Amino acid sequence: MQRLTVVVPAYNESAVLAAFHARLSKVLDALPLSCDVLYVDDGSRDDTWAIIQSLAGADARAGGLKLSRNFGKEAALTAGLDHVDADAAVVIDADLQDPPELIAQLVEQWQSGYDVVYATRSARAGETGLKRFTAAAFYRAMEVMSDVAVPRDTGDFRLLSRRALAALSQLRERQRFMKGLFAWIGYRQTSVKYLRDPRLAGKTKWNYWRLTQFAIEGITSFSSAPLKLATWTGLAASVVAFLFGLKVLLKALFHGDPVHGYPSLMVVILFLGGIQLLALGVIGEYLGRNYNESKQRPLYFIEEEQAPVSRTSFHTQATPRR
Ligand code: UDP
Ligand code: MG
Repeated sequence: MQRLTVVVPAYNESAVLAAFHARLSKVLDALPLSCDVLYVDDGSRDDTWAIIQSLAGADARAGGLKLSRNFGKEAALTAGLDHVDADAAVVIDADLQDPPELIAQLVEQWQSGYDVVYATRSARAGETGLKRFTAAAFYRAMEVMSDVAVPRDTGDFRLLSRRALAALSQLRERQRFMKGLFAWIGYRQTSVKYLRDPRLAGKTKWNYWRLTQFAIEGITSFSSAPLKLATWTGLAASVVAFLFGLKVLLKALFHGDPVHGYPSLMVVILFLGGIQLLALGVIGEYLGRNYNESKQRPLYFIEEEQAPVSRTSFHTQATPRR
């Protein structure tokens, strides 16, 4: 029988985890696969880990990893995926915003030959108009600027085949923009549509500040367009400055030029100063990323692990864990 592992990152999810596992279990029972579930406690400060342990005690299919601190969802996901040795893995949020029932459809698509099956939201219940607007704007910007087409309105909820997993596990970059990485590996990809529910309990960790950082991360990880933009803006400004300089010079030569033009001088200085600082900021953004990558730190540390009882081996895949 083919095997499937469900990877669930959880950060302070004690309020929903038991309900989540109950709902997931029902879905897994109905699948014609041998399944296990791997919870990754991303350094929670509540009793998420205790709950994971008790789930693992009660259900032979459940296991967990506890990271040494909060590394962020992308690292937690990576930790989980590194510990999959099944034929396919599903990545799903613990807060029940991704309906576990959809896994059956993901599996169906996988069995018909797809390597990456992602879930696409067709509506975003319980989210504000502003959030929807910013999300749409972000996907649009990614589409225009990056070299990979990141599918719109998808989260991390998806299924990966064995070879997609193997490919993903070779991407060890520290700046992990998962949606982009999933798209970047290629293979046969398809989507399944669903309605996204509001969070069942607990609260989202994504405030606008984090979302902005996430957007910058996505764009800088997959596109050098902002650097080119700086170059082109600089070039355009130089051409304009040259023409304007010529005009000033000729005017002074033929008409003489009593001192004039303080306002225009100020405008030009402030405008160019602003653009220069912005361009420096863009360069700094890339330089910072470069600095982080060059340190070559591991993506996460595991403090404790509890293998699913049903699983024979836990450490898996000859992953290049650098
Ligand atoms: N999560 C995590 N580490 C973090 C933040 C979130 O593992 O630092 C997990 C969280 O427990 C949940 C999933 O990632 O299972 C999605 O988080 P959240 O619901 O806050 O994000 P949203 O649904 O708003 O995108
Ligand atoms: Mg959520």
